[in-house]
Amino acid sequence: MTNSYELLVIGGGSGGLAHAQRAAEYGVKAAVVEHGPLGGTCVNAGCVPKKLMWYAAQHAHGFEHAADYGFDVEVKGHDWAGLKARRNAYIERLNGIYENNLDKRSVTYVKGHARFVDANTVDVDGRRIEADRILIATGGRPSVPDVPGAGFGITSDDFFELEDRPRRVLIAGSGYIAVELAGVFNALGSDVRLVVRRDSVLRDFDPMLGRELMDAMDRDGIDLVTRVVPESVLRTGDGITLYAEDGRKFGPVDCLLWAIGRSPNTGSLDVDKAGVEVDSFGFVPTDRLQRTNVENVFALGDVTGRAALTPVAIAAGRRLADRLYGGMEGRHLEYEIIPTVIFSHPTIGTVGLTESEARATYGDDVRVYKSGFTGMYYALGANKRRSVMKLITAGADERVVGCHVIGEGADEMMQGFAVAIRMGATKKDFDDTVAIHPTSAEELVTMR
Ligand code: FAD
Ligand code: NDP
Repeated sequence: MTNSYELLVIGGGSGGLAHAQRAAEYGVKAAVVEHGPLGGTCVNAGCVPKKLMWYAAQHAHGFEHAADYGFDVEVKGHDWAGLKARRNAYIERLNGIYENNLDKRSVTYVKGHARFVDANTVDVDGRRIEADRILIATGGRPSVPDVPGAGFGITSDDFFELEDRPRRVLIAGSGYIAVELAGVFNALGSDVRLVVRRDSVLRDFDPMLGRELMDAMDRDGIDLVTRVVPESVLRTGDGITLYAEDGRKFGPVDCLLWAIGRSPNTGSLDVDKAGVEVDSFGFVPTDRLQRTNVENVFALGDVTGRAALTPVAIAAGRRLADRLYGGMEGRHLEYEIIPTVIFSHPTIGTVGLTESEARATYGDDVRVYKSGFTGMYYALGANKRRSVMKLITAGADERVVGCHVIGEGADEMMQGFAVAIRMGATKKDFDDTVAIHPTSAEELVTMR
């Protein structure tokens, strides 16, 4: 049986759904192929379950300060399995909402695994679907290193399958997932060791953030070890042990988690049959208009290897539909000034250039403002955490080109500052804005 559509989207995740739905709102006959649950990584094994686990960890940290605020609280334990069941039930509700949303817009939902037959035809488990345009929005999956015994470790996907809290946890990696899940495990009571390949976590960000987070992790009892290049993994009766290239060994532990980046889902898509080129990692390169090298095939989201964040995939998807079907010529996503939050403990919010990127772009015409303080939340107890903020300006008018915050509330404070920075706000605009007191965010408009 052959079906024909104006648009076929491969991948029912953040980007694919956003594109298909926006296109359908313009009257396009569209279909989405998805071989897993609707919503993709973000809903099923990413942002959503991760944020719920982060909330659980926040509660645990909250209990640490309860006595300072007069509460006599005894925490008798934590029901990981119960939390997981409630989390899964919430996600199932979201899956249903996503299906309804497709239905409401008359987007056809095709369940199955898509492979290209040619640039206008896709095979879904034996069924042929033709389309004028095809969007590749197949996302990615966790990478596992190519070392003997790597399979004894788990990935972030498996983290969400854990029925119980492992007692001894070893995390290998230094990016978003490594620090976020280290914080969750630690707050919920695991013994956590984090091994990083180089000298720091979060090396893609302003170095102040990684430094401050490593201090905070240390105070929280996370054991961070640098310069660990994994060489092999062994499992014995005592647990799992990671061996490093320099001979050091880490373990035994009950859970080894790899958090070393993600690989694109293009391996079983047969993109070559459509003539679509991929890079050496399998990512699909696109231009600023999300075009691949084949005229009617587009790609966006994680599979393109740029800024692997949900709102980026959604924005790219909606803008592409606006351009192709909504008459908005030239509309596209700009990949600069993308705000992002790392749900570590404490949280990190960041937007714009790092200090070294600013200096490389603007030379000596850069000024840096910094503030470090203890938030009022910690005023009453001995167990304190620092907040640190950094503003980077460029040019004679001191346009703010970077804003980096670690500390309580950084997650919720960054969105508004990202608007200001995108609009070209200067340091004077920040200074002329009346502070909101007492907050941590007010530091950003009172820096000297
Ligand atoms: P996906 O959402 O991955 O969707 C791709 C879909 O394609 C999947 O559903 C997949 O099953 C399907 N698919 C693949 N191949 C085929 C095929 N051949 N046929 C049919 N279907 C196929 N981002 C944030 O912004 N904030 C966060 O807090 C955040 N937390 C995260 C936490 C974790 C643990 C992880 C792993 C990621 C997190 N992300 C976060 C990143 C975010 O999840 C991704 O950037 C986002 O989901 C990318 O959307 P996408 O549409 O490109 O791909
Ligand atoms: P990241 O890209 O954030 O970090 C992975 C890091 O692991 C690399 O930068 C590298 O750091 C290190 N690494 C790479 N290979 C190895 C190896 N073989 N052995 C040891 N270390 C290695 O990847 P994540 O997996 O943490 O997350 C994937 C993406 O998902 C993120 O980039 C982000 O876009 C998205 N995400 C977003 C979140 C959010 O918005 N809050 C949360 C979670 C994920 P180094 O070079 O320093 O060793």
